[in-house]
Amino acid sequence: MSHYFKPATIEEALSLASDYSNNYVYFGGGTDLQIYRKQKLIKDEAIIDLSGLTDIYRIQADGNALILGAFVTLDDITAAPEIQTHFPLLAEAAASVATPVIRKTATIGGNLLVNNRCTFYNQSKEWRDAAGSCMREVGPTCLVTGGKDKCFSRNVSDTAPALIALNATVTVQTQKGKNEIPLKDIYAPDGIKYHQHMDDAILTAIHVPEKPVNGWFKKLRLRKTLDFTSLTIAAAIDTSGVARVCLNGVSMSPILIEEPFSGLTLEVLIRNARKNCKTVDNDLMPLKYRREMMNVFLKQWWSTVHND
Ligand SMILES: Cc1cc2nc3c(=O)[nH]c(=O)nc-3n(C[C@H](O)[C@H](O)[C@H](O)COP(=O)(O)OP(=O)(O)OC[C@H]3O[C@@H](n4cnc5c(N)ncnc54)[C@H](O)[C@@H]3O)c2cc1C
Ligand code: SF4
Repeated sequence: MSHYFKPATIEEALSLASDYSNNYVYFGGGTDLQIYRKQKLIKDEAIIDLSGLTDIYRIQADGNALILGAFVTLDDITAAPEIQTHFPLLAEAAASVATPVIRKTATIGGNLLVNNRCTFYNQSKEWRDAAGSCMREVGPTCLVTGGKDKCFSRNVSDTAPALIALNATVTVQTQKGKNEIPLKDIYAPDGIKYHQHMDDAILTAIHVPEKPVNGWFKKLRLRKTLDFTSLTIAAAIDTSGVARVCLNGVSMSPILIEEPFSGLTLEVLIRNARKNCKTVDNDLMPLKYRREMMNVFLKQWWSTVHND
């Protein structure tokens, strides 16, 4: 039985986290966490519900920059006229997550920090007991590769590649103070410890520095709603001509290819994507198909920006 807390200030939340060190979980909208609790994949002693922290709910956008509080829901992002007008890439990414009902509760902070997934891990306790548990839980090996030293569970956030393509930074707060870091830097290429710079930290805000020249988003999944991504690609070109193409759902962390657009070729883009994504057969869609679709999506983006 877990203890439930709903602190009113960030300081109180951080202090509770310190009291329950390594044995607590921050609760955003809970739409991801509740499944993990039900499937007995997490058993934390304390649940620290962040929904009482009223200062992390704002949307502040103009024709240039965007600031989002970490507790803004995905539904609010999709519906915000200023985001639809100036950052449609982000509105599209938020609208692609889960289902309309889930998006009313799911927060942007929780989506950026959603847990990595694998078809051999995100299963009921009974399934895992029958099939054998892997090294991400208590078993000795990875059930996908047979290896003993690396987990390849996938980062499945859809808004992370969109915001990385938009060159976003995030504000994270710990008991030592506030820190602003590039969003891309909070992800680590490790299927077990997939977030970094986040120990005990609360993500409070997201900043997009400027409106891009253009943006593009595409998600591959079995059904057009509900399903997690099998491959998400978001891309944007900023006002100084830098192209950021970010792939997710195909590696342990989002994979960013960042190049001056004028020097980029489709061949280099595809080669870098294939080299940097550590894609294994741990999704409902087959590995070969997902790899092929990387090329298809990248070619689609390439022809879109060259026809603009
Ligand atoms: C049926 C179904 C389909 C789904 N489909 C998708 C999908 O297509 N794409 C997708 O990306 N996700 C999907 N999800 C997962 C989830 O609903 C979303 O990722 C959602 O945005 C998570 O947000 P949340 O606020 O509910 O996070 P929570 O579940 O509350 O938290 C997620 C993680 O973030 C941490 N966290 C939350 N907020 C903060 C904060 N402010 N500071 C520090 N840590 C924090 C939590 O501790 C937890 O580890 C799906 C879930 C379900 C049940
Ligand atoms: S990639 Fe391997 S170790 Fe990681 S969750 Fe899947 S089966 Fe387990």
